Amino acid sequence: MADKLEKLEDFREDLITCGHCMGCNVFNWWTLDKWVDCCPSGKKFGFISYFAVGRVELGRALLEEEIEPQDIEVLKKIAYACPTCGACILQCKEFKEMDNIAIIEALRAKMVELGYGPMPEHTKFAQAVDTVNNPYGEPHEKRFDWLPEGTNLDKDAEIGYFVGCTSAYREQELAKATVKLLNKANINFQLIGSDEYCCGSPLLRTGIRDKAIELAKHNVETIKKKGIKKVIFSCAGCYRTFKEDYPKIVGDLGFEVIHVTQFFEQMLKEGLLKLKKPINKIITYHDPCHMGRHIHLTKKKIGVFDAPRNLLKAIPGIELKEMVRIRENAWCCGAGGGVKAAFKDLALTTAIDRIEEALSTGAEILVSACPFCRRNLMDAINAKNASIDFKDIVELLEESID
Ligand code: SF4
Ligand code: SF4
Repeated sequence: MADKLEKLEDFREDLITCGHCMGCNVFNWWTLDKWVDCCPSGKKFGFISYFAVGRVELGRALLEEEIEPQDIEVLKKIAYACPTCGACILQCKEFKEMDNIAIIEALRAKMVELGYGPMPEHTKFAQAVDTVNNPYGEPHEKRFDWLPEGTNLDKDAEIGYFVGCTSAYREQELAKATVKLLNKANINFQLIGSDEYCCGSPLLRTGIRDKAIELAKHNVETIKKKGIKKVIFSCAGCYRTFKEDYPKIVGDLGFEVIHVTQFFEQMLKEGLLKLKKPINKIITYHDPCHMGRHIHLTKKKIGVFDAPRNLLKAIPGIELKEMVRIRENAWCCGAGGGVKAAFKDLALTTAIDRIEEALSTGAEILVSACPFCRRNLMDAINAKNASIDFKDIVELLEESID
């Protein structure tokens, strides 16, 4: 079966009819009386080419074969210096209903097809995925080294936890907190185990599709063989990839895909989750793009905005103070779309903006729901020596559960 991932050619009409209105440069410019940045890449580099409009124009020029060989290096940076956060979709959709995330990903796939992309750093992580099944180049056999002794696993459970590479190798506290939380909540679950490979997100976001398609088929086959009916994710990137990309690659997955916050919100509603231990802190919540806009704005589905907030409000003692840019208007952490690997400065300055916004609420803890956001936001906290802690929502739930 051929994959149904969108090709640049599928967007020909959008690319040609973009009105260059620049709506994609700023949040809600038609209702606010001040400039509120929405585009991390445009803010950082300043030139129009680095906003969505520039990438749309580049896509058009590629299709129309207007690109000269001497321009490739500059154009590569325009195509790739963007965390594919999707904030531009929200602005553009007032006029055109353009799916800029899908367009930018299709543009990158076209760049790879023509031999113009990806960036060298992306080639490096693709090679690592090819050899050891994770983009960090860590030994595959160490993928579950973080698993706490005594974790209660059930090899016949219908619920599976897909850990993901970032939690398995770089943010192990999050993986540990997730299995502890599942155990404390008396959930029978199993791990995907030694056949869990990278979900393919870093490859799909950077246009390296062939290997990502292999990974999708492998992971889906493995999960089915284990008899798993519901897969839980504590990584927003893995969740987005299974939820949005995998069905385009393999069709019906044959199992449910659910973010850990949705899973526990459901338990909370059914009275099965008891959050009793108070956490007396002022917190603010950062929406990961991959579980918000990437779900909300593609195919008109609703992103995971309410579940984390409902859980946080259910923890006694917590006072949630929201930032200005939240939910579908959230400012990106800056790490996605291959940016953390290839444009470190863009990733860091974008995260520093977010930390400043979090500090302005007076919060003591910045909370999110993704190991990759955690990694980048922690880097910014450390770079600024900011007086704010970071916690994943899973860690707070694990601390508060009865
Ligand atoms: S908002 Fe949409 S139509 Fe307007 S310039 Fe940006 S991409 Fe083009
Ligand atoms: S996806 Fe985000 S960074 Fe990229 S062009 Fe759109 S708003 Fe800017």
